[in-house]
Amino acid sequence: MITAEDKFRNYLKMKGLKFTPERKMILKTVLSLHTHFDVDQLYERLRKENSDISRATIYRTFPLLIDSGIMKETLLCRDKTKYEHIFGHKHHDHIICLKCGRVIEFRDEEIERLQKAVCKKYGFKPVEHKLGIRGYCRECQSKMGE
Ligand SMILES: [Zn+2]
Ligand SMILES: [Zn+2]
Ligand SMILES: [Zn+2]
Repeated sequence: MITAEDKFRNYLKMKGLKFTPERKMILKTVLSLHTHFDVDQLYERLRKENSDISRATIYRTFPLLIDSGIMKETLLCRDKTKYEHIFGHKHHDHIICLKCGRVIEFRDEEIERLQKAVCKKYGFKPVEHKLGIRGYCRECQSKMGE
């Protein structure tokens, strides 16, 4: 079984880039987060781990992690781009609360099937899709009603 680290290292090698300690630390931290996070949250986590990696380094490393298939951009949530690691995870879609920022993951086979059917109709070969539904969660709806 290939690990995320192997995958990232191979990708960097292919690109002629080095697997630097900073890149290794960012990879490790991204894999340790099992939620959807933004750059600031990752930065805070790195600070907690006593790392002095800058936001600029994080911004430069993210495209590499995305391109290598370790991580992806999930969606925009309250004006912040959210990411999550996808290595070892099955495809899923998202429901996002505009008020509290909660993100719910779901996978619906019927929706997946319908998207494939649409592609087929247009002779299109799908590679990926991002489905996000924005709105208000139950708690926020009840607070709004008060
Ligand atoms: Zn989907
Ligand atoms: Zn909410
Ligand atoms: Zn997710």
